[in-house]
Parts: sequence; structure tokens; C-alpha cells
Amino acid sequence: MSDSEKNRENTTDTGNNSGNGPSAPSNFIRTIIEEDLRSGKHKGRVHTRFPPEPNGYLHIGHAKSICLNFGLAQEYGGKCNLRFDDTNPTKEEMEYVESIMADVKWLGFDWEDRLFFASDYFGQLYDYAVQLIKAGKAYVDDLSSDEIREYRGTLTRPGKNSPYRDRPVEENLDLFRRMRDGEFPDGSRVLRAKIDMSSPNINLRDPVMYRILHATHHRTGDKWCIYPMYDWAHGQSDSIEGITHSLCTLEFESHRPLYDWFVEELGIYAPQQIEFARLSLNYTVMSKRKLLKLVRDKHVSGWDDPRMPTLSGLRRRGYTPEAIRNFSEMIGLAKANSTVDIAQLEYAVREDLNKRALRMMAVLNPLKLVIENYPEDKVEELEAVNNPEDESAGTRMVPFSRELYIDREDFEEHPPKKYFRLAPGKEVRLKHAYYVICTKVIKDAAGNITEVHCTHDPATRGGWSQDGRKVKGTVQWVSARHAVNAEVRLYDHLFTRANPDDNKDGGDFLDYLNPDSLQVIKEAKMEPALAAAKTGDLYQFLRIGYFVPDSADSRPDHLVFNRTVSLKDSWAKIQQK
Ligand code: ATP
Ligand code: MG
Repeated sequence: MSDSEKNRENTTDTGNNSGNGPSAPSNFIRTIIEEDLRSGKHKGRVHTRFPPEPNGYLHIGHAKSICLNFGLAQEYGGKCNLRFDDTNPTKEEMEYVESIMADVKWLGFDWEDRLFFASDYFGQLYDYAVQLIKAGKAYVDDLSSDEIREYRGTLTRPGKNSPYRDRPVEENLDLFRRMRDGEFPDGSRVLRAKIDMSSPNINLRDPVMYRILHATHHRTGDKWCIYPMYDWAHGQSDSIEGITHSLCTLEFESHRPLYDWFVEELGIYAPQQIEFARLSLNYTVMSKRKLLKLVRDKHVSGWDDPRMPTLSGLRRRGYTPEAIRNFSEMIGLAKANSTVDIAQLEYAVREDLNKRALRMMAVLNPLKLVIENYPEDKVEELEAVNNPEDESAGTRMVPFSRELYIDREDFEEHPPKKYFRLAPGKEVRLKHAYYVICTKVIKDAAGNITEVHCTHDPATRGGWSQDGRKVKGTVQWVSARHAVNAEVRLYDHLFTRANPDDNKDGGDFLDYLNPDSLQVIKEAKMEPALAAAKTGDLYQFLRIGYFVPDSADSRPDHLVFNRTVSLKDSWAKIQQK
């Protein structure tokens, strides 16, 4: 059983499915929420949040969390906040804040008037810290960060108390205020919770709550020179916002007792944290640190490079929000980490695009096809169906003339057995046009094929024979005189290894970058309707895959198309038609 199948199993064995449509199979979080609604635990409220740190662009893993948090709120008539966890001024930038908002909106979710920043709570968090100091539950420590690490102990060795642990409350209050007022240099002191240095849970060994950092924050400027640690800010932010179900990834399971300790000592509202497995996909990396490295070292063209697993990359590649939402529902929720096959993501986008993309004809590797028995100056407009899956998409006219382009791959001078495309003496269907039989091959002095000649059967107009004669092959074409040129970018996995993070053999993820992840075709030929292609249009180039105009580089005088995904088994499919 593959990991993704196991994942699905995990999702179906829990709880009932009351009130959910067929598109919403139950999972353990829905079960918990429904139980809470029944028992009146949060007075019938469902309030979630998506809490990104603005230190990078969102990726497909974040999408899972967004769909989960916003999706559950929608489903149960609740609310979902967007909250930036902006507690680390050195790594955070407004560029990231803006891209994250754009991505959440693009995915189809709305935080309405509930856009928050952890930095909005810096004042409240400071007051909470003072409250803990007064209660003898927090202290200022002068140990260096190395010493703190040393004193913390290990999984097998208990920690030991800092010599500053028993400072009197008044001294702690005074020092903490002076930390805030900027009297001390970076790293010279911290505020720590006073819990238990021998706890088996290392998170409870007097965790650091505040550090001194004279850094300008993207929102609070220079107002603060002490910044709350994530573990101190996160739970209290949830509490302040009245979050009922605080969904987070598994690595925070061992932090939960700390979050519970803080709210209990403060006597404030306690959100309920529920952990789920983070999404990882094969053939890519999801760590923001690694994604940033790919961008900074120019292994990709930017955060929105269509090979990146970022939402901006996927969007530029042609992924739709619908496909990503369906994918995130399809992979389900698990309580154990596992890897999902990237083929599942590709399946989800094909499913969606199949319903919506307009079918067009394009030739990536053009070979001239001359129809000997077709008049030089004649042009016919032939009707072509825009989308056989959607009648309302209508039809368009495609010009046909004596000289066409077909793909080089669709001609073999010496075909192997069972070759159904064009070959000397063989008959194929030109999609939407005519049956043609190959009569002649023209070569240059070096023996390269430069032209293929054929004759057409005028009685097969539209691509259907009157006499019931069948052909096994159908190929796409474009009229040479009417074709528009375009650049086409074909993508493959960014990494050659299913798990690029695996460095057992001493390698680094960059060692497994796929040198062929981008293939550029400079002069593809397209049917003229594509001259008007613009950002947001979705196409299927018959037999080649799904394509979109590149949002960054495509212009009317220089069309650029990205292949979103190939057609699975495109050849087998066309045979059946
Ligand atoms: P960092 O290492 O910078 O903390 P992060 O991936 O945790 O990276 P956040 O911005 O903190 O990034 O993530 C925001 C939210 O998205 C968190 O609630 C986190 O649990 C969730 N999330 C992040 N990565 C994934 C993933 N791969 N699968 C599911 N949820 C994820
Ligand atoms: Mg995080």
C-alpha cells in the first residue's frame, strides 16, 4: 500500500459523516468538532486560524493547512482568521505578507475583517509576561544562550537550574522593564518561564519567552527591542482571538503542554490544539529554508518559478485553486507523517482542467506537410469543438490550407509495427479536417526530412469518412500560413530523487536538482486563435498537455506557454476517439 493510500485509510476510519456532503468525507478533526458542537464545548462556536510566518512564500503544504482551517470554518458556519506570526523581525518582510494574502485569496478563501498580526499583541504579551513574573512564574536569566543550552540537559539527562532562577520578583520586574527599555545589549539576558528543569518534556524546562534584539520590525518599527519567542506568542495569540480549534502540524504535539501551562497560569481562555500530519510531496522540497536557497542561488527564476511547489509557482504553471482544494481534500488527514505522490497533485489538476480547458491545436516540433491535391490559394475554415467535455464551450473555426505543420514525432519514414501515425503509404486523420495519405518524403542534401507530401480525400471533410473507412491515427496540425509562433516551456520534476531531503549518502538536496526540469521550445506553431491568449486562460493542446500563457513573460508579440501537466497516456486516448 502506498503512503497516500494509507493516508486515505486513516481518514475514513474515524467517526460519522453527519451533515457533510459526499465531497467531505469525515476525518478525525471533523469528528472532534462535531463532538464539541454536540457537547456545547465552545458554546457552539467554530473559530480557526491560519498562522503563517511571513518569512517566505506559501507552498502546497500551507495550502493543505489553509483549506483545512478555512474549509472547516465554512463547513460548520464558523470563522477563520488570517494571522501573521511575525515575531522574528530579522527574517520577515512585507513582500512575504503581501504574497501570502494574495495566495490565500487566490485559493478562494476570505478572512473578512479578521486580518491579524502577532505583533498587534506585543503590548498584551508584555503585560501577560509581567503577570507571570509577579506570580513568581517567570524570571530574567543572565546566562548566555550557550549556557542555557548546556543547562537544559538532554532527553536522557535532566536539566539544572540557572543560578538566576530564584531572583526576587522585584528584581525580575525591574530587569524585564529595563530589557524592554533598551538598556542591555542583544543576547545578554532573556525572560524565561519558571516551570521544571527536570521535566521529561524538554519544552517545559524553563523555556525562553523573550529575547533582546535591537532590530527594526516590519510593522512595529523600533518600538520594541525585546521580541517574544514563537512558543510564547503563539498560544496567547490564539487565546486572545478566541480560537476554538487550533490546528497545527505534528511537531507541535510536545509543545501543547507548554501552551496549556501558559494559559492556565495566566487564567485566560484556553483554545484546544489539535495536531495533524504535515504534507510532504515527493520530487520536491517544502522547507522554506531550502526554497529560499533555490531562489537566492538562482537555481530557479524566483519564488514563482513554475517548477516551485509554491502557490505562486503552481499558479503560474497553470494550477487552478479548484484543483488544489480538491487535492487537499483527496489526500485526507492523518496523524502520522507520510509522503504523498506528486502524481496525485497532477491527477487533481488534470481532472479539473479536463472539464474547463479549451482544446487547441499546436505543434511543438514542426514538420511541413504539403497536400498535393489541395489548391494553392484555397483556405477553408473548419469547425472545431472547443471542449468535448463541455458543450457550452462551443466551437471555433480553424483555417486549413495546402501547407500545414504537423509534429515531427507524428511521422516515421520507416515505422515500427503498430505505428498508427503518418508514414509512407499510410492514411491518418488530420483532426477536424481530412483523411490524408502520405505520398512522398522530401529530404535535404544531408538526408534530413524537410517536407512530407500527401493527398487528402475531399469526401472526409471534418475528419469523418462517408464510406465507414477507419483510420487508427489522428494527428493535430496548423496551417503554415496562418500559424502563430510561440515559445513553449515544458517542465519536469525539480529533483531527480523522490526524496531530495534524504542525505544518507552525505549529499545535499542541491545535488539532486534535475538538470532537465525545464525544456524551452523557441518556435512552436499554434493555431491562430491562440494569438489572443491571455493570463488566466486554460488550454489543452491536443495530445500534448494542458497549457497556460505565462503570466510573467507572455506578450501579444511574444507568446509564451507553460505546460501545466502532460496528458496522461495521451496517445491511448486519442486512439479511442
Ligand atoms: P517554518 O519552518 O518557517 O516555521 P512552516 O512551514 O511551519 O515553516 P509557517 O509559516 O509557520 O511555516 O506555517 C503556517 C501554517 O502552515 C502552520 O500552521 C503550519 O503548521 C502549516 N504548514 C506548514 N507547512 C505545512 C505542511 N507541509 N503541511 C501542512 N501544513 C503546513
Ligand atoms: Mg512554523
